[in-house]
Amino acid sequence: MAAQTGNAAPVLSDFEGQGAVYDGLMRTLRDGTFVHAYLITGLEGMGKRTLARLLAQYWLCQAPEGEKRPCGVCRACQQVRDGTHADLVIIAPGKPISPDVRPDMKSIPVDEIRALIAITGRHTFEGGRRVVLIEQADKMNPPAQNALLKTLEEPVPGTIFLLMTESPSLLLPTIVSRCRELKLHPWDDRTVLSVLEKHGVTGQRAQEALHVSGGSIGKALAVAGDEQYWQRRSEVMRDFFALERRSDILRISSTWKDRKDDAEELLDDVEDMLRTLLLCHLGQRSESAVTPYPAAWQRFSREGELSAMMRLLDAVAQARQMRANQVTWQAVVERLLLSLMEEKSKWST
Ligand SMILES: [Zn+2]
Repeated sequence: MAAQTGNAAPVLSDFEGQGAVYDGLMRTLRDGTFVHAYLITGLEGMGKRTLARLLAQYWLCQAPEGEKRPCGVCRACQQVRDGTHADLVIIAPGKPISPDVRPDMKSIPVDEIRALIAITGRHTFEGGRRVVLIEQADKMNPPAQNALLKTLEEPVPGTIFLLMTESPSLLLPTIVSRCRELKLHPWDDRTVLSVLEKHGVTGQRAQEALHVSGGSIGKALAVAGDEQYWQRRSEVMRDFFALERRSDILRISSTWKDRKDDAEELLDDVEDMLRTLLLCHLGQRSESAVTPYPAAWQRFSREGELSAMMRLLDAVAQARQMRANQVTWQAVVERLLLSLMEEKSKWST
C-alpha cells in the first residue's frame, strides 16, 4: 500500500511528500527527458509498487495529447491498475511469466528474464510503449541479473524498465548504474496520519500505528488493521503495566507461560511501551501517547529519572538474554514483572 486517497485510486501527486525525488521525476516526465530504466528503492511499505504502477499508467495512458496523464480512467489506465495491460510486463517472484519457471520458486531465475527478453523483442500490442515492472528485483539470481544487464545496456526503443527493491546492494552494481534511482524515504508523520485517517483509523490507534510505522505507510496500515496486534497490546498493558500487587505476579506469569510463541512479540511490546514513556519524558512524543497507561506510569513518565527508565529497558534486554540462556519463559516473565512492579509501586499514590 502507499499514499492514497481513501478508496480512490492513488495518483502521482500523492508522492509530492517525497520532495526532490518527486520534483525531479515530474520534471523529466514533463520535458520528456525520462530514462529507459528506473530503480525504485525504499523500505517495505514506502509505496514502490504504487509508484511503479502510476508511472506505467503515465507511459501507457491513452488520454489525448495535452491532457493530464495518467488520466486514471481510460482503458489503458484501468488495465494497468488491474495488471492486465498487454504491454505491461510484470516480473515478480512466485508469479512467473515463463512456463518453464515453477510458481513456488522464491527467486527470479534466468528463464524468466529470457522470457521477458523474448517479449521485449516483439512489437507492442497497442503500438505504443511497453513497460516492464520487476518487483523484488534483488530476487533475480546472478545469471538472471546478468541477462537483464545486457538488455539494459542495449535499450529497446519504447521499452521502460522499472525495477523495485528494498535492498539495492543485492543487485549487480552494473545494473544499479544503468538505472536512475528513485529513492523513497520514510513519510512524514502528517502524511502517515492523513492516510490512516482516510482509512478510518484515528485517535490512539492512529498514533500507535504511526509510532511503529517508521514512516512506512504500508506498515502503518497493516498494523492499524491487525486485530491480533491490538489484542496483544491491550493484554500487555493490562498484565505488565497495570499490575497492582506482588501477589499478581505468579498469577500473570502462569497465564503467559503457555504463550512462548508470543515471547518475542511480547518483549518487543513491553520494550516499545517503555520507550514510549521515555520519549514522552524527553518531549519527543506528545503527552497523549501515555494516556492509555495507568496513572502511576503517567507520573513516572513526567517525573521519573532517566536512569530508572534505562534500568527498565535493561530489564527487557536481560529478559531476552535469559531466554537465550534457556531460562524458562515463565521465570523470564516473573522477573520482568517484578522489575516493572517495583518501579510502578514508587509512583502509585
Ligand atoms: Zn489514462
